[in-house]
Amino acid sequence: MPKALTVTLNTGGSGYGISFWEQVYTCATQAFYDMEVKEGSRPGPKSSDSDDTMIGTIYHAFQEIYHWGGVEMRGFDTTTVELRQTAARPWDGPAVIRETAETLFRSYRAKYSPSHMGTVKKVEEPYELPLKKRPWWAPDGMPLTARMDLEVTTTKASCARLGRDHLMVEVGNYIVDFKTAKTRWLNMAWAYAWRIQFAFYMMLWQWMNKNKKLKGLIVAAAFKKTNTHEFFLVRPPTMDTQKAVAEVLHTAWEKYRADPIEANPFHCMAWGRPCLWGKEGVCKRHSGVFND
Ligand code: SF4
Repeated sequence: MPKALTVTLNTGGSGYGISFWEQVYTCATQAFYDMEVKEGSRPGPKSSDSDDTMIGTIYHAFQEIYHWGGVEMRGFDTTTVELRQTAARPWDGPAVIRETAETLFRSYRAKYSPSHMGTVKKVEEPYELPLKKRPWWAPDGMPLTARMDLEVTTTKASCARLGRDHLMVEVGNYIVDFKTAKTRWLNMAWAYAWRIQFAFYMMLWQWMNKNKKLKGLIVAAAFKKTNTHEFFLVRPPTMDTQKAVAEVLHTAWEKYRADPIEANPFHCMAWGRPCLWGKEGVCKRHSGVFND
């Protein structure tokens, strides 16, 4: 008889993670509002892409069970997993969100075993950098956290399997990050290769695991439109990339200390899309690009 599964969804990120600080770097007001949403003290913007975010969160929860639940849990019935928003509150979102996440996960499971990328060492491991005796790239006093989806040690067999997925990996330690996207886009590999989030994860992991060597980070991307999957390899950051990450962290920390909710009106129409906090009239700190 399979065990009944209850999962509390991780909707709040790791707290003071790299995403929060990247947001402070761009617009601290936006980071402040988003943090309030994560803490549950403010509803999210009405027209946000929260459905896509929630599909990704539920997909991550299924991957966590799959990779950490043990052999007897591998075939778990996704439809019977009890999802909870918090320990005390069931998740009551639209059925279509859950069904999309289930379909996406089942298409992964149909093709890949939990050891496809190697021996699983840790799942959803939280990291927090100590406030003292820090690496050179972390400003003193700045809270810095991360939560790694998966940590694996590749084997000769998993290297051969990943080779057939066109990934040139060696036997050793890798971080795995699960990503969901609507569809595969052209420059995805380049975008992942230069992503500050991944460089930061690798810098943090290596500093916290000084007696081990990290070989890289594998992005396991899932595409909702086609229910297909693709793996990408990101190499450990060069010194130049580490300096770029340090620059973002130091600048964000200086800005935060000067004004933790400093507005940046240059960011209100980033990528040609309006910031929803301004568009919906919550933020009055922009420079008039919206009709209040
Ligand atoms: S509207 Fe502009 S200033 Fe306000 S939170 Fe959004 S990006 Fe920041």
